[in-house]
Amino acid sequence: MTFSRATITPWLSAFGKRAQQQTVRPSGSLDLGAAATPTPAVPTHTASDDDDTDCEKVTCIALTFDDGPAVPETATLLSYLSQYHARATFFTVGQNVAAHPDLVRAEARAGHEVGNHSWSHPDLTKLSREQVAYQLNRTSDAIKAATGKAPTVFRPPYGAINNTVRGATKLSPVLWTLDTEDWKYPDAAKVAQSVIAKVKRNDVVLMHDIHTTSVAAVPQILRALTARGYHFVTVSHLRATL
Ligand code: ZN
Repeated sequence: MTFSRATITPWLSAFGKRAQQQTVRPSGSLDLGAAATPTPAVPTHTASDDDDTDCEKVTCIALTFDDGPAVPETATLLSYLSQYHARATFFTVGQNVAAHPDLVRAEARAGHEVGNHSWSHPDLTKLSREQVAYQLNRTSDAIKAATGKAPTVFRPPYGAINNTVRGATKLSPVLWTLDTEDWKYPDAAKVAQSVIAKVKRNDVVLMHDIHTTSVAAVPQILRALTARGYHFVTVSHLRATL
């Protein structure tokens, strides 16, 4: 399932303005809370806070990885991203966050964005408002426990969203503009090609870090698009600088 840019752009622009205001606001008051927390030092910044890539001036892309964290795929993916100084967004499933908080902490620490992908991956449009809120709140709590920071974005499983879902959360929904269909094709070269052949500036690319072949496609994607001048940013960074 894909959504046209016309569908995405209106809310993207509105959120972008809000996110930009947050980004330029002095951060001193935000830091005080973190400093006062008597827990081990875990970076609480997101890529948006310290990534100065200007997507109006350079060519950006937001790679997104759903359904993790997974062992061993997510750690492998993190090492690939780090080799290319690439940032990405992880839409994590709450029960996987609870099982592997160390991996989610590593995502955040490396400057990636951690987003909410529900607790157990149901079709949220089939749930009541209360059930949707439970799915998302429980996951945000797990992410905050792992990283020190609650997410601000969520991706509904299957891209299924309606007004009940929107009304059940303050999180901002994120869909995608380029679907690799990587779950359908367990073939790293094919997955890589699906991005390299079709990618456009400012695309939000849907992939999954629970599939070995999807992760194996990433070095080829990073190599090819880096050569073409692409900068790999988080979803919130892309929105904030457009
Ligand atoms: Zn998913």
